[in-house]
Amino acid sequence: MVNSMTLNLEDYLLVMWEYRESFSKVSEADISKRLKIRAPTVTEYIMKIEQMGLVKRGDREVNFTPAGLKFTVPIVRTHRIAEVFAQQILEVPWEDVHKAVMDLEHLFSGAYGDNLFKHLGYPVTCPHGNPTSVTSKDNTSNLLLLSDGEYTFGRVVFEDYDLLRKLASVSILPGSKVRLTKDQDYRIEASNGEIKLSDKEAIMVHLSKKKRGK
Ligand SMILES: [Zn+2]
Repeated sequence: MVNSMTLNLEDYLLVMWEYRESFSKVSEADISKRLKIRAPTVTEYIMKIEQMGLVKRGDREVNFTPAGLKFTVPIVRTHRIAEVFAQQILEVPWEDVHKAVMDLEHLFSGAYGDNLFKHLGYPVTCPHGNPTSVTSKDNTSNLLLLSDGEYTFGRVVFEDYDLLRKLASVSILPGSKVRLTKDQDYRIEASNGEIKLSDKEAIMVHLSKKKRGK
């Protein structure tokens, strides 16, 4: 699905952040898959970013340098604020929001981004529960680490489209009350029905024991 969208530095860094936050590591193959760009092109681009001092290529892994991390934090923030805008103002459906803002968010950096944040009422999270201030304390836990029981749905850390659709099909959103049961799959039951998550999908989902603050 390569469209005419110009993929730039911010897209690469955002994808690296997503993978690292969800799976603790990212490879060039992951980036290639997520951005739907051919692997050699990704490698070429990553080498360019490495020359800029933002990332370091390792053995089947790409890591942020401290400078790269510092550069990426505002990009993640802007992405999450742009998602709130897309959902609340443009009325983009929840599961489509992440994709929809990949083009839009580049308009919203710097002071314009701060204005947007203010007019949206300083949202604490994006529509998928991920914090707009990436340094804020996180009281959610990875689904893999939790035992069976009642929880509040916290975050979709890795905003995978098929996973978002699956959750939306039974109206599970951040703040929803859910019941977790682990057998071969991870079963999540909400008032509108039940879904099953694979191991891979389960890593992408965080639940919370406490009520959400907002
Ligand atoms: Zn989001």
